[in-house]
Amino acid sequence: MPFTNKYVIIVLIILVIVIIYYFAIPFIRHIKLHQDTKKLYASLKDSSLPWKVFTRSEQGRNIYLFEQGEGESTTLILAAMHGDEQNTFHLAVKLADTIYTKPDLINSKVVIVPAVNPDGLLRNERINANEVDINRNFPTENWRPIYEKYKYNPGYEAGSEKETQAVMELINLYQPDKMVVIHADLHVLNYDGPAKDLVLRMADYNGYRIESSIGYPTPGSLGTYAGVEARIPTITLELPDIGPEEAWEQNFEALIQAINFPE
Ligand SMILES: [Zn+2]
Repeated sequence: MPFTNKYVIIVLIILVIVIIYYFAIPFIRHIKLHQDTKKLYASLKDSSLPWKVFTRSEQGRNIYLFEQGEGESTTLILAAMHGDEQNTFHLAVKLADTIYTKPDLINSKVVIVPAVNPDGLLRNERINANEVDINRNFPTENWRPIYEKYKYNPGYEAGSEKETQAVMELINLYQPDKMVVIHADLHVLNYDGPAKDLVLRMADYNGYRIESSIGYPTPGSLGTYAGVEARIPTITLELPDIGPEEAWEQNFEALIQAINFPE
């Protein structure tokens, strides 16, 4: 074989490996995860856990809630506000499962909502059924009806979406002392409001980098609504692009610490 042909074949093989590793495997992994998400969401209806239907989404899907524990403080944990952040849903359901079977893990009350945006979750899309980004739809001072990218659509009016209203009602009803909102996949801990000590504690356990700002403006975000304006310590836990098992290994202890904080 002439030297040049050999060279071309080697380059092609490397190219195929790169394509498989960086595109095909992640693509298949995401499809599989979405299938698992649909099954897991459907299973909540008949779960042995006492899931409550807190309210319903724009398309009438159940927005589930799990609550457990007694004590001075209440922690509200929210996930899948963006429906394409599928690993956040799995992490929150597993946290509820674990706390239910091992109640001694926590010393105070926790309220877990694993899918704020079930319509988006089941379609594997960031936005809700009305194509609104829930995390830009909260009635904050900086909410505005203009947006640059489709995926940041803040809605026609602040607080217009059922999913946004659900979170506002949860905050009103439970008056949480702190909140952890799970997103993906920036691999960072972000915080709003008086949450510095809490974020340091979580970082001790998951080793994620801490940032006080996500790096781009987020008008109408929950962090601004709850953290900056209502002064509720609010952590945005941004998972990396990893599967549910790895997300659990990295964050189980950090989440338990957040619930039990400051103890
Ligand atoms: Zn998100």
